[in-house]
Amino acid sequence: MDHYAVFGNPVGHSKSPIIHRLFAQQTGQKISYDPKLVPIGQFTEVANNFFEKALGCNITVPFKEDAFQFANELTPRAQLAGAVNTLKKLQDGTILGDNTDGIGLVRDLKNAKVLLKNQRILLLGAGGASRGVIEPLLNEQPQQLIITNRTHEKAQTLVELTKHLGPITTERYENLNDPVDLIINATSASLSSELPNISKHTIKPQQTICYDMMYSRELTVFCQWAKQHGAAKTIDGLGMLVEQAAESFYLWRGILPKTEAVLRFLRQHITIN
Ligand code: NDP
Repeated sequence: MDHYAVFGNPVGHSKSPIIHRLFAQQTGQKISYDPKLVPIGQFTEVANNFFEKALGCNITVPFKEDAFQFANELTPRAQLAGAVNTLKKLQDGTILGDNTDGIGLVRDLKNAKVLLKNQRILLLGAGGASRGVIEPLLNEQPQQLIITNRTHEKAQTLVELTKHLGPITTERYENLNDPVDLIINATSASLSSELPNISKHTIKPQQTICYDMMYSRELTVFCQWAKQHGAAKTIDGLGMLVEQAAESFYLWRGILPKTEAVLRFLRQHITIN
């Protein structure tokens, strides 16, 4: 049996073990997948031990940058994201680092029939999650991708790094007053039930779609705010979580699992907090 895991701290809440076990069942793959609580400061030691016997792992908070440093080789999308959420041991023992968050987001948006081409997209936040989704979003040929961040300089740096890839700009929160087609919240504000300082005028009632990368059983504060101001639709990040996992599974096993039933199962049976 081949061994996989998710590394995090904390990690007990992670939905990845159940998602990957369902993928394995669906595709008939004989694998084990377990949560691994990694003590802070010991990522490299734990990962070195793990890869003596195992073939791959996912990485969650707060180790995505450690995994980026740990990998011997990086995919272009991981390189651009500056963060790794998937490690794979290649046949010659090389450890490959990848980032599947961006493709996970884009697939989830497409599953929800959200238009991206020729749309004005506003991306809130300039942390690891935001960095990981810029290239996949630009690949969808939006009319414009605007990044805004509480610490404006970080958004400026991201625009400098990625402006050769497509129509990307930055704007401060206080200057955002025009409606856009899609707002993606890639800040961690929802985790503490806070809202980014965003104007309601960015929402065009009945037209703008609002996506929060965070997920919870109740509507996140961002999705509540979006509904209050007439957003056409709100979507949380549970679908992105399942889609990024599917892409990791594909990287490891060469089979892309179906995600719809897994997402439905999580919504029905799993406590999300
Ligand atoms: P980081 O810590 O790297 O970045 C956090 C970002 O949020 C920064 O841009 C920060 O701004 C901003 N921020 C934090 N608090 C506020 C606030 N009160 N108002 C405005 N901006 C704020 O986190 P990640 O990028 O790794 O994760 C972001 C979110 O995405 C998390 O909620 C995470 O759970 C979610 N996520 C979901 C995934 C999924 O599969 N559904 C996958 C990956 C992430 P500043 O720079 O000014 O500090």
